[in-house]
Amino acid sequence: MEADITIIGLGPAGLQAAIHAARKKVKVVAVGKSEASSLNRAEVENYLGIDPTGGSEILSKGREQAKRFGAELLEEEVVKLTKEGEAFVTVTDHEREIRSKAVILAVGISRAKLNVPGEKEFLGKGVSYCASCDGGFFKGRPVAIIGEESEAAESAALMTEYASKVYWVHRQLRASEHEVNKARKANVEMVQAKPKAIIGEQSVTGLELEDGRKLDVNGVFIALGAKGSIELALELGIMPDPSGQIPVDGNCRTEMEMVYAAGDVTGMPWQLARAVGQGCIAGENAAKAVRARK
Ligand SMILES: Cc1cc2nc3c(=O)[nH]c(=O)nc-3n(C[C@H](O)[C@H](O)[C@H](O)COP(=O)(O)OP(=O)(O)OC[C@H]3O[C@@H](n4cnc5c(N)ncnc54)[C@H](O)[C@@H]3O)c2cc1C
Repeated sequence: MEADITIIGLGPAGLQAAIHAARKKVKVVAVGKSEASSLNRAEVENYLGIDPTGGSEILSKGREQAKRFGAELLEEEVVKLTKEGEAFVTVTDHEREIRSKAVILAVGISRAKLNVPGEKEFLGKGVSYCASCDGGFFKGRPVAIIGEESEAAESAALMTEYASKVYWVHRQLRASEHEVNKARKANVEMVQAKPKAIIGEQSVTGLELEDGRKLDVNGVFIALGAKGSIELALELGIMPDPSGQIPVDGNCRTEMEMVYAAGDVTGMPWQLARAVGQGCIAGENAAKAVRARK
């Protein structure tokens, strides 16, 4: 099939890009898995003008809006992305080929997993990968932060503003001395141990460690850093930055002409507001560039 713009990703960045581009009367096809969006599992309480709302509801309304403005949405996964002359060729797992003049990468990030029992079962019930997203839900309750690097240090320091007690569980600290001292000064208790299991019933009640100790906590924040979903960009020849994310300029342009990127894949903070803002910028600019070529 032919399109003016192919958007890869059906999270908030991709959907907002689809809305803004489609309103400019260019043909937009957006491909991705709604369920795979980080937002699908979120309960959002920090987005302008809305009461706490389930992320899946925001996504569902966003999909309807995008379709209303004329974007075509495909619940498929992209397995290949190449450039043939002026055209970008996107191939999906349904063996569909989309040829377009521009591409917007809105593929999010995949958060590194701890891989212990309880991690999956208690996700959203005490287990979180984002202290700045979920910290507020743990006011006055004890929590553990798991990780070695600066993401863990930042999460531990942040959680001292909410939690009654913060443990920082690590094996070998790789955060800077400054960050470690900051966490210590904020009364974070350092625990050198390997996590064994996250336990609880309806929600988290504790973290078991391999040395036999158990921490009584209601929240476990896994802060092991994150890997950008950049394989598709690499196929095109776009290089990620040292932290594994896709660099963009203020217009959400990547280093390759007619390729834009938006949302978590371009960097932190990994937040809905930023994803939506960049989706708008990428959608507007890609549409403008396509129209200029017509
Ligand atoms: C548990 C949790 C709670 C959160 N709470 C909050 C909160 O309270 N407030 C807040 O602001 N933010 C919160 N966030 C963060 C927020 O969800 C993200 O910042 C936001 O979803 C990023 O949007 P995105 O569109 O960049 O990526 P995502 O929403 O992750 O979407 C990525 C999309 O890319 C698609 N994709 C990836 N690879 C491919 C491929 N090869 N082919 C096709 N499609 C592909 C996926 O299918 C998906 O549709 C939370 C996140 C989590 C995990």
